[in-house]
Order: sequence, then structure tokens, then C-alpha cells
Amino acid sequence: MYHHVKQLMYTVKVGEADPRFGNMLLEQFGGANGELAAAMQYTIQGINTPDPQLKDVLMDIGTEELSHLEVIGTLARMHLKPAAAARKAAEADPLLAITGGGGVNLYNSQGSAWTADYLKITGQPEVDLRNNIAAEARAKITYERLLAFTDDQGSKDALQFLMTREITHMKAFMQALEGLGKGPLEIGMLPPTPGLVDQFFNDSTGEGQEGAVDMSTTWARQNGFEVVESPAFHADQMEVDGPTGARRRRSSAKK
Ligand code: MN
Ligand code: MN
Repeated sequence: MYHHVKQLMYTVKVGEADPRFGNMLLEQFGGANGELAAAMQYTIQGINTPDPQLKDVLMDIGTEELSHLEVIGTLARMHLKPAAAARKAAEADPLLAITGGGGVNLYNSQGSAWTADYLKITGQPEVDLRNNIAAEARAKITYERLLAFTDDQGSKDALQFLMTREITHMKAFMQALEGLGKGPLEIGMLPPTPGLVDQFFNDSTGEGQEGAVDMSTTWARQNGFEVVESPAFHADQMEVDGPTGARRRRSSAKK
């Protein structure tokens, strides 16, 4: 169950309202990497998971994200407020100025409506936790970019708080992933095909006009892959192992 406490998780102060910045802040309110998406992703994963410890982590963090939603929504609202009355301010976000009277709604900065398509929920803990680590990384970099676009100290302080919490969550999800006791490449139940799984296909070759070079073969060998030259270029010299799909140079082919 939910209960609302009439205090923000972080007190928001704004010196001078900046409607254009308020519009940018909507990315963290109703955008793809925003707080509502995070809150819903973790909470719904929590509802789905049978593991009581993982459920608790997901529900704790999902609920904190709802508190973040309230903070970022309040901050965006303070910046957008002048859009209700002043033409110049309204130009920062005509959609919210005209349909919302300068109040926030679940849109991103370009006016696209929030959608459940933003959520990544698979029902497989080692997959969902990676989704969550990636979601936290995206939220972190979004806050970092927002921080670069305001000089308002109160806004900066709130964004710094929210950005920091995303790293905390990232750490929690990484620890939870490690706690599952699965290897880094163990996803689901079925093992990958031996041999094929270790082949790196050198599928981008040659030297480009912009200085692009073919370095991946060295890189791949250093990282434990068997390098296979582009199957497309060498089709006549390659044979495909029927059962595994692994590529091998024909024994009759010239070196
Ligand atoms: Mn958050
Ligand atoms: Mn987070």
C-alpha cells in the first residue's frame, strides 16, 4: 500500500523560473529514462518476483523513485509556472502552456506522451537486474546533462541529489545481480553452443576515409575470442559446421 507524506524527499528551491529549463526537466518526469519509468519498472518487477529479498529491494527502490518523481515534478512545475500567463514563457512548451496551464504532465521535452513501452520487464531476474542497472546509468547521464544547462543553485542541488541516488540504486542492483550466484554470461537455463559462442566475426573490414581502421581482430584475440574472417568475403573458402553454425576455413582453401 502507499501512503503520501506531505514533504518532498529533497527540498526544492528555485531562484528565477526558467521555462525552457522546465521543459528539459520533463525528460526526467515523463520521459523514457525518467522517474516514472523507473518507479513502474522496479515496482512491477517486484510484484512479479517470488524471491522475497529481491522483491524487497525492488519495492524499496521503486517507491523511492516515486518520491523522485514528486521532486522532479515539483521542480519542473516551478520552472514552467510562468508559461501559464506569459507568451514568451509559453513558447518554451506550448503543449503544457495551452493544455496544462503551465502545469506538468506525463510528456517528455518534445511532447511525446509517457508510455509503458519505456519499461523493460522480462520476469527473469538476471535479465531484469541488468535492465535496471542500464536504466540507472541512463538516468544518471540524463541528470548530468540537465545539470550542465542551469545556473540556478537550488535546481542544481536537487538534481545533484537525484543523480547521486541513481548511482546508489545502480550499486544495489549490481549487488543483487551478484547475489543471484550466476556467471556473467549465464542467462536463463539453456547453455549457448560451445565453439560458436567463442567466435568473433570480423565483419567490418578495411580502412575508411575518416581514419576508421580494422583493429577488432587484435582486440578480439586479446579477449579470448577465436577470430573468424568475414564470412561474407570468404564464403567460398568457408564451411559452416552443420549442427553448431560455427565457421571454419575449408581444409582445401589457400591460406
Ligand atoms: Mn530516480
Ligand atoms: Mn534510481
